[in-house]
Amino acid sequence: MMNELAVYAVSTDNSRGRLISEAPPTGRSEFQRDRDRIIHSAAFRRLEYKTQVFVNHEGDLFRTRLTHSLEVAQIGRSIARNLRLNEDLVEAIALAHDLGHTPFGHAGQDALNDCMRDYGGFEHNLQSLRVVDVLEERYAAFDGLNLCYETREGILKHVAKKNIPKLGQIGERFLQNKRPSLEAQLANFADEIAYNNHDVDDGLRSGLITLKQLEEVSIFFRHLTPIKNKYSSLPERRIVYETVRSMINTLATDLIQQSTLNIKDAGIDSLSTVHSAPPLIGFSQQIKKEQQELKKFLYDNLYRHFRVVRMSNKARHTIEKLFFAFSSDKQLLPVKYQKKFEQEGHHAIADYIAGMTDRYAIKEYQRLFTIAEN
Ligand code: MG
Repeated sequence: MMNELAVYAVSTDNSRGRLISEAPPTGRSEFQRDRDRIIHSAAFRRLEYKTQVFVNHEGDLFRTRLTHSLEVAQIGRSIARNLRLNEDLVEAIALAHDLGHTPFGHAGQDALNDCMRDYGGFEHNLQSLRVVDVLEERYAAFDGLNLCYETREGILKHVAKKNIPKLGQIGERFLQNKRPSLEAQLANFADEIAYNNHDVDDGLRSGLITLKQLEEVSIFFRHLTPIKNKYSSLPERRIVYETVRSMINTLATDLIQQSTLNIKDAGIDSLSTVHSAPPLIGFSQQIKKEQQELKKFLYDNLYRHFRVVRMSNKARHTIEKLFFAFSSDKQLLPVKYQKKFEQEGHHAIADYIAGMTDRYAIKEYQRLFTIAEN
């Protein structure tokens, strides 16, 4: 039985709807329909072979963007239910939030952004929106997935000022300094909870960080200690799992409590008051501080670990080489993108590269630059 939605939640009644109007769905809500369209998209399937921190071929147990997105959806949904927000909308945003990511994680995004500097740059949030608005070609009546406004608003978390004028209605809130729905704010926090915790887990699994190092991090230490005391002979891997799951639980609980207070204190009684209020979904001061400490630890010890830096460097090299090859000779592009280039210039190259999975990019690099004997 679904909880009744809070008055400030997004609902079919207060939704701004779809750009192209469609008959209402039967047997499911508008936001369930959005989620279903996202799951059936080609971009969603590609997330399986795109990296978060580790490149896809480094190991089968590390998170990919697909499993990351599923974890974000799971965390988001359970918090949404507690706050009586629209779970289906949170789920749709969570599953779509990384659709526009390039291969090779942040290194790939930064490299493509640099390559596109003279052509407006490359932003993964904007690209995710472009995937669902334009690039998916599945439906007879429209390009893209024709998602509801609120799903698109949640996907477009940030945008560079220079790109706002092109966006129309969906960009207005950035000019008016308005906040997105609580569902969008929540999806963003669910993302943060998911990656901080799975990066701890993947970091330990990879051996790039150690349990001993993590004991210096207060949030990890205070969750680890009772588990170690209670289960002293447990293998390290299971201690890690227990610690991570109890950290996720603490973070979710704190977010629910603090956000409930924020919503109450701000006197929020409708969706429009959410838009004009300051951000309302958030952690308590203590958790905020601890999260910052954990993030800094991960940055210094995992994301800047020489093995990660070395892989990021190869990723950058690969993206740059692909980009410069295509932009100096359009004939190297697949025919579909040659045609697109005539209309959209270098954005066609960015779309092609951003759509690649890690392994596709590696293969394409070999096809362009290596003469193999067989
Ligand atoms: Mg994410």
